[in-house]
Amino acid sequence: MFQVYDAPQLAPANYAKMEPCVDISGQGGGLAFPKYTGSGVPVAAHPFQPQEVFRNTNSRCRACGSKHTLCIYLYYTADVGTGKDLTLELKCQDCGKYTVETYMD
Ligand SMILES: [Zn+2]
Repeated sequence: MFQVYDAPQLAPANYAKMEPCVDISGQGGGLAFPKYTGSGVPVAAHPFQPQEVFRNTNSRCRACGSKHTLCIYLYYTADVGTGKDLTLELKCQDCGKYTVETYMD
Protein backbone atom coordinates (compact mmCIF):
# COMPACT_ATOMS: atom_id res chain seq x y z
CA MET A 1 0.00 0.00 0.00
CA PHE A 2 1.60 3.27 -1.08
CA GLN A 3 0.85 6.78 -2.24
CA VAL A 4 2.96 9.49 -3.91
CA TYR A 5 2.80 13.14 -2.85
CA ASP A 6 4.36 16.48 -3.82
CA ALA A 7 5.02 17.47 -0.20
CA PRO A 8 5.96 15.58 2.97
CA GLN A 9 2.95 14.02 4.68
CA LEU A 10 4.40 12.47 7.83
CA ALA A 11 7.76 14.15 8.31
CA PRO A 12 7.48 17.70 9.74
CA ALA A 13 7.54 20.62 7.29
CA ASN A 14 11.02 21.60 8.50
CA TYR A 15 12.38 18.06 8.16
CA ALA A 16 15.13 19.15 5.75
CA LYS A 17 16.67 21.30 8.50
CA MET A 18 16.82 18.41 10.98
CA GLU A 19 19.56 15.88 11.67
CA PRO A 20 19.49 13.02 9.12
CA CYS A 21 17.69 10.58 11.42
CA VAL A 22 16.28 11.52 14.83
CA ASP A 23 14.71 8.97 17.15
CA ILE A 24 11.39 10.51 18.28
CA SER A 25 9.90 7.31 19.73
CA GLY A 26 7.29 8.10 22.36
CA GLN A 27 7.43 11.87 21.96
CA GLY A 28 3.77 12.07 21.03
CA GLY A 29 2.75 10.31 24.25
CA GLY A 30 1.42 6.80 24.62
CA LEU A 31 3.52 3.74 24.03
CA ALA A 32 7.00 4.30 22.68
CA PHE A 33 6.80 2.49 19.38
CA PRO A 34 9.82 3.10 17.14
CA LYS A 35 9.51 6.41 15.32
CA TYR A 36 12.19 8.30 13.43
CA THR A 37 12.25 11.42 11.33
CA GLY A 38 14.85 13.81 9.93
CA SER A 39 16.38 15.11 6.74
CA GLY A 40 16.83 11.52 5.62
CA VAL A 41 19.13 8.53 5.42
CA PRO A 42 19.30 5.81 2.78
CA VAL A 43 17.07 2.87 3.73
CA ALA A 44 20.13 0.60 3.94
CA ALA A 45 21.72 2.90 6.53
CA HIS A 46 18.64 3.44 8.70
CA PRO A 47 18.99 2.48 12.40
CA PHE A 48 15.79 0.39 12.14
CA GLN A 49 17.39 -1.59 9.32
CA PRO A 50 18.16 -4.78 11.34
CA GLN A 51 14.41 -5.39 11.70
CA GLU A 52 13.29 -8.10 9.29
CA VAL A 53 10.18 -6.20 8.17
CA PHE A 54 12.28 -3.20 7.20
CA ARG A 55 14.80 -5.24 5.24
CA ASN A 56 12.00 -6.37 2.95
CA THR A 57 10.67 -2.92 2.16
CA ASN A 58 10.79 -1.18 -1.18
CA SER A 59 13.35 1.64 -1.20
CA ARG A 60 12.55 2.93 -4.68
CA CYS A 61 10.63 6.08 -5.49
CA ARG A 62 7.12 5.06 -6.52
CA ALA A 63 6.88 8.02 -8.91
CA CYS A 64 10.00 7.51 -11.05
CA GLY A 65 11.49 4.23 -9.82
CA SER A 66 14.76 5.81 -8.71
CA LYS A 67 16.82 4.10 -6.03
CA HIS A 68 18.14 7.49 -4.89
CA THR A 69 15.75 7.90 -2.00
CA LEU A 70 16.12 8.95 1.61
CA CYS A 71 13.95 7.72 4.46
CA ILE A 72 12.65 10.88 6.16
CA TYR A 73 10.08 9.20 8.42
CA LEU A 74 9.55 5.75 9.85
CA TYR A 75 6.89 4.52 12.27
CA TYR A 76 6.47 0.99 13.50
CA THR A 77 3.38 0.14 15.50
CA ALA A 78 1.94 -2.98 17.04
CA ASP A 79 -1.70 -2.92 18.14
CA VAL A 80 -3.50 -5.76 19.80
CA GLY A 81 -5.93 -7.13 17.25
CA THR A 82 -4.71 -5.21 14.23
CA GLY A 83 -1.18 -6.58 14.01
CA LYS A 84 2.00 -4.69 13.19
CA ASP A 85 2.44 -1.95 10.64
CA LEU A 86 5.57 -0.29 9.34
CA THR A 87 5.06 3.08 7.67
CA LEU A 88 7.82 4.83 5.76
CA GLU A 89 8.11 8.12 4.00
CA LEU A 90 10.76 8.31 1.27
CA LYS A 91 12.02 11.46 -0.41
CA CYS A 92 13.23 10.96 -3.96
CA GLN A 93 16.48 12.76 -4.73
CA ASP A 94 15.86 12.56 -8.47
CA CYS A 95 12.25 13.69 -9.01
CA GLY A 96 11.60 15.27 -5.59
CA LYS A 97 8.38 13.33 -4.88
CA TYR A 98 7.45 11.79 -1.55
CA THR A 99 6.36 8.17 -1.26
CA VAL A 100 4.41 7.03 1.80
CA GLU A 101 4.29 3.27 2.07
CA THR A 102 2.83 0.93 4.70
CA TYR A 103 3.77 -2.69 5.26
CA MET A 104 2.21 -5.39 7.41
CA ASP A 105 4.72 -7.29 9.50
ZN1 LIG B 1 11.41 9.81 -8.01
